[in-house]
Amino acid sequence: MRFISTRGQTSPLGFSDAVATGLAPDGGLFLPETLPTFTAAELTRFEGLKYAELCFDFLQRFATDIPAGELREIVRKSYTTFSHPQIAPLEQLGDKLFVLELFHGPTLAFKDFALQLLGNLYERQCRVRGETINVLGATSGDTGAAAIHGLLGKPGTAIFILYPDGRVSPLQERQMACTGASNVFALAVDGTFDDAQAALKDVFGDQAFRTRHRLSAVNSINLARVLAQCVYYLYAWLRLPPKIRTEVEFVVPTGNFGNVLAGWMLQKMGVPIRGFRVATNQNDILYRLFTTGEYRVADVHPSLAPSMDIQVASNFERFLYYSVGCNPERVRSIMHTFKSTGAYVFDAFDRDSFTASCTTDAEISGIIKHVYQKYGYTVDPHTACGFKDLDPAKPTVVLSTASPAKFPETIVAATGREPTDPALEALKSRSIVKHRIQATPAAIKAFIDERAV
Ligand SMILES: *Cc1c(COP(=O)(O)O)cnc(C)c1O
Repeated sequence: MRFISTRGQTSPLGFSDAVATGLAPDGGLFLPETLPTFTAAELTRFEGLKYAELCFDFLQRFATDIPAGELREIVRKSYTTFSHPQIAPLEQLGDKLFVLELFHGPTLAFKDFALQLLGNLYERQCRVRGETINVLGATSGDTGAAAIHGLLGKPGTAIFILYPDGRVSPLQERQMACTGASNVFALAVDGTFDDAQAALKDVFGDQAFRTRHRLSAVNSINLARVLAQCVYYLYAWLRLPPKIRTEVEFVVPTGNFGNVLAGWMLQKMGVPIRGFRVATNQNDILYRLFTTGEYRVADVHPSLAPSMDIQVASNFERFLYYSVGCNPERVRSIMHTFKSTGAYVFDAFDRDSFTASCTTDAEISGIIKHVYQKYGYTVDPHTACGFKDLDPAKPTVVLSTASPAKFPETIVAATGREPTDPALEALKSRSIVKHRIQATPAAIKAFIDERAV
């Protein structure tokens, strides 16, 4: 299987190269050249598989350049770090209401599904090529922690994560700075997230530096992330009562569109899912898109669901590619218009598969309280966005993207109870190792020069 760029100006690559490359050199995002189609017989066979087996079976259609035995081992290893035996348990709250819990990985958020796998793929790449890799990223919270835990202690790799000092939650800082691993560097930047991001962009802009350290970016657009995320939709779908499967709507708390895109691609592969709800917080660019057809940037307003505070949904370009009949020229021209004017109006896309909702901070607190009172179930502020205006008559699976234990203040304020998790409790007694650093390209480069592998 080969992978093409949404902008059509990059030669197709094999799976491992596309994963190692991240963003395509023409500025586009990688997608499979063709999508497999699952038959009813295959779907029936999948019912008997455990999570890691299903994941292997799914991925081997794409990762055709990795020997099957090796791929199976990579997948197995990636999910042994999860604390729940089912990896992605489907909890039933009502007659037709289900929650898919995606927070049993090491950092208690759904990004672990992709980043545990990605870390093991990077490790293999280093071994096969006999090279080391240095991963660099800036984070306002979840992504940095998940990336760190994906590479923790992996030979041949080092990871440098910049975050604004004093502006991520104490628990998030601990997830990054208390790992004890010698290949992990938590860099507390003197400045805001935007300062860190700007300095980082500069560092990546230095081609010589980038090549010298085989620098790779942490981001939400890696091909492996989308493919890894398809699997839990399939796993959940197979666990629903057969008579409601084709009627089900997956409700997805959404920021960069990466999570919901994976579900939609699975539907394109022949899995009969009714549709998807794009559930945003008050940063509602995608809500406006799916209700009006207009995609227009707006300022970001920090919310109680910070991992969904985005201005532009980076994975949207993959959806766009399919929406314009897989025509890369059209993608280039639309992305150009969007970049230069900050807006684009669509005349046609797959609206049949999508509904949308947006949830304000005031509503988030109310929903956490309501869900707790009605079902005795605690949802985190991101997941709460998925519980807005649900219709009990319709089969629904809400994706739960983070553990409530990651957001104790918001949960206590809404329910009066403090959520806990053993993994987070253990972190509280460990010492923080962080490196304070100026938000300048020179300071960052000097640090990397000294510690890179
Ligand atoms: C990243 C994140 C999201 C948003 O996911 P996208 O793939 O960017 O749409 C939602 N909830 C949590 C907890 C996250 O960490």
